[in-house]
Amino acid sequence: MQNEKKSGFWGGLPLWKKIFIGMGLGVLVGTILGPDAEYLKPIGTLFVNAIKMLIVPLIFCSLVVGVTSMEDSAKMGRIGIKSIVIYLGTTAVAITIGLTLGNIFAPGAGLNMAITDAAAAGKEAPSLVNTLLNLIPKNPVNALAAGNVLQIIVFALGLGIALSLCGEKAKPAIALFDSLAEAMYKLTELVMKLAPYGVFGLMAWVSGKYGIEILLPLFKVIGVVYLGCVLHVLVVYTGIINFVARLNPVRYLKALLNPAAVAFTTTSSSGTLPATIKASREEMGVSKGVASFVLPLGATINMDGTALYQGVCALFIAQAFGIDLSTSDYLLIILTSTLASIGTAGVPGAGLIMLSLVLTTVGLPIEGLAIVAGIDRILDMARTSVNVCGDLMVSAVIGKSEKELDEAVYNKETPAA
Ligand code: ASP
Repeated sequence: MQNEKKSGFWGGLPLWKKIFIGMGLGVLVGTILGPDAEYLKPIGTLFVNAIKMLIVPLIFCSLVVGVTSMEDSAKMGRIGIKSIVIYLGTTAVAITIGLTLGNIFAPGAGLNMAITDAAAAGKEAPSLVNTLLNLIPKNPVNALAAGNVLQIIVFALGLGIALSLCGEKAKPAIALFDSLAEAMYKLTELVMKLAPYGVFGLMAWVSGKYGIEILLPLFKVIGVVYLGCVLHVLVVYTGIINFVARLNPVRYLKALLNPAAVAFTTTSSSGTLPATIKASREEMGVSKGVASFVLPLGATINMDGTALYQGVCALFIAQAFGIDLSTSDYLLIILTSTLASIGTAGVPGAGLIMLSLVLTTVGLPIEGLAIVAGIDRILDMARTSVNVCGDLMVSAVIGKSEKELDEAVYNKETPAA
């Protein structure tokens, strides 16, 4: 499929350019047609439905595979737990940065969008306590059928751990989940091919309904997400490298340049993995064992950039639709985005799919997704880079604490062995 001959102007364009063209044309057509552009909305709805279709199988398979890819020796167990704690802790910090900046810059304020989907308007967000109590599904099949993502995440983690503990007997099941996960990544890729058309329909509808003024807040969203991403890397990551791992942060920043550039252009942390492993080993002196365990795990479950983006976008959508969020809504966003970021596959656009999950869990209108979808590629470039920088940071911290980091290589005193 990859080697398919691309023909013509449209066929030869990379997907992200097609999405921008779809967005631009959508704004143009919507501005010309005005409220009549509503007729184009179904094209967008088709795309949003296809995205929703992916959520349950994608997180389920990718999480089971994420857990089973850990080996179960005692050291791996210890490194695994340490990594997960740092991964989740920094993720929660990332969403908090996103929410704080979203509050300060309020990109959606004054948009006054109306909720047209009655189902979304009537939705009450569950309280935080209930969400915590309901984390464990009484019936996992129900959870899967109802699309209760938090419960699905808990069940997938449990199943993954059990499969890893079963040894030989679990091999066929693990191989099955592996190949299903691959198929889901492929299906995501196929669904994303619809994005230019979906974005066209959604943007035509949105700009027909709300006018071209909708664009300015979107630029603000981009600015806020980029600012948050830069702060997260420069303050949180270099801070941890400096104060926790006691390593030179400038060396860390130099080492991440190459993988961050690959992540920025490919928008896939899984796709960037070879570059990340290379930088971790050759630039930072992390041992092969730690790098090849911590980094693939990170590419599957550590998505700080995605979580930060979800915080900003959830807030933007609440502001745009004039919905006030309570403290428990904020906590729910932090909890859901942290868990959702674990289930986000390291492939382009996966964060957008997970955003729909955060919106539904918190009770925000899913229509908001339509507006963000048009600029998702630009946001994906920044968030994927942060995801990868986070993985590298954790590999250095774990390497240092397990005495599996060669400081001479890290400090460039000797080349990597
Ligand atoms: N593209 C991101 C990644 O691969 C995931 C996302 O869409 O947020 O890390």
